[in-house]
Amino acid sequence: MESSQKKPHVTVLASPGIGHVTPLLELAKRLVVDHGFHVTFLSITTDAPPAQLQLLSNPSLPSDLHVVSLPRVDVSQQPIGISVRIFLVVQETLKSLPFVLKNLQPPIKSLVVDPLCIEALEIAADLSIPTYVFMTSSASLLAFTMYFPTINAEVNGDYSKIAEEVIVPGCKPLLLDDLVPGVLLPEVLPMCNRFPSVKGILVNTWEELEPVTLLSLRENLFFLGLPAPPDKPVTSTLESSKFLTWLDEQPIGSVVYVSFGSGGTLSREQMSELAWGLELSQKRFVWVARPPNDSSASGSFFKAGFLDRTRGRGLVTDSWAPQVAVLSHRSVAGFVTHCGWNSVLESVLHGVAMIAWPLYAEQRMNARFLVDVGVAVWPEAEEDDGKKVVGRCEVERVVRTILEEEGEG
Ligand code: UDP
Repeated sequence: MESSQKKPHVTVLASPGIGHVTPLLELAKRLVVDHGFHVTFLSITTDAPPAQLQLLSNPSLPSDLHVVSLPRVDVSQQPIGISVRIFLVVQETLKSLPFVLKNLQPPIKSLVVDPLCIEALEIAADLSIPTYVFMTSSASLLAFTMYFPTINAEVNGDYSKIAEEVIVPGCKPLLLDDLVPGVLLPEVLPMCNRFPSVKGILVNTWEELEPVTLLSLRENLFFLGLPAPPDKPVTSTLESSKFLTWLDEQPIGSVVYVSFGSGGTLSREQMSELAWGLELSQKRFVWVARPPNDSSASGSFFKAGFLDRTRGRGLVTDSWAPQVAVLSHRSVAGFVTHCGWNSVLESVLHGVAMIAWPLYAEQRMNARFLVDVGVAVWPEAEEDDGKKVVGRCEVERVVRTILEEEGEG
């Protein structure tokens, strides 16, 4: 066997969060297993969720893939909101990067980063290390990101001047409603400005999913790489087997899986309507039901008797499900999803139709083109007292539609 010392040494750097670490780790594995590289995976562990730590300490990682944790940082003194916190954690952590990169042995040939770690590009440039960006979202968001500085200059930073649509040349118009509040953030401008300096951009997507955007990116000669999404569940052992045993007992194509990513939550009112809708649909379901985001009250947050009445027909957890294993199970035919990019890829890969339930970031944008290409339906929300809520009858309707059209249930 060729020794690690002789193999090309590449470093992959991921920002915190399972949605970033999962695809970058998969890329790292592919570089080692399929292409004979030696990879050092640099992980940011400040604010890292337990699932991330579990993923990175998995003993089945290939031997030429070394995980190195960058020194932890303390940002608790800074007065910042949650959405900006991740930028600060990355910024502070990357102060240790020059030292780490200089000392990796053998010297590294290139650095791959996700978009939130883009400040690493300058550090790598100072050390003459070629850099690549791995988009952890869609090609459509990539196109928008590249064009955002132009849009920003056109409206002079005042996004209220943008009419209903944002036009990125060569792409389908984007609805302003789909971009705010999670995408048009001034904090991302420095990141957008650095994109053109990289040696290549890797996007994890399929031609059929984003035909128009991919055509336009190719015409502009961007470099696209398409590594496959993860093929193994994050969770294993006991917790996993509880879900799989239950799914094994359900008829083929009869179950809808409900999950809003690694951290998505709903309001108490919305959870109640979702629970009603699932119950009224009379369909089988697996639901990752985290506590509501607008209530600190302890105790059950379901309406009285919901768990009893749906026992046997529904499996509910309040924390985590082995998503890839669930989606790849033959009894699952529908997925109520927040449209995070990894969830989208995992669903498409396993042929599971989606009920789009975007919550934040670029998820509305994803939902829009998933509906356009016919792999998702988007339930209609009603406006109630200034709040948008998807009512129980609409939940019942979309769950029935998906399972009766796509599944066998
Ligand atoms: N995930 C999981 N179990 C859960 C929730 C999420 O395994 O209960 C995994 C899911 O398979 C996906 C990732 O966490 O790979 C979530 O990434 P995504 O981009 O969909 O959403 P984010 O969490 O970044 O918003």
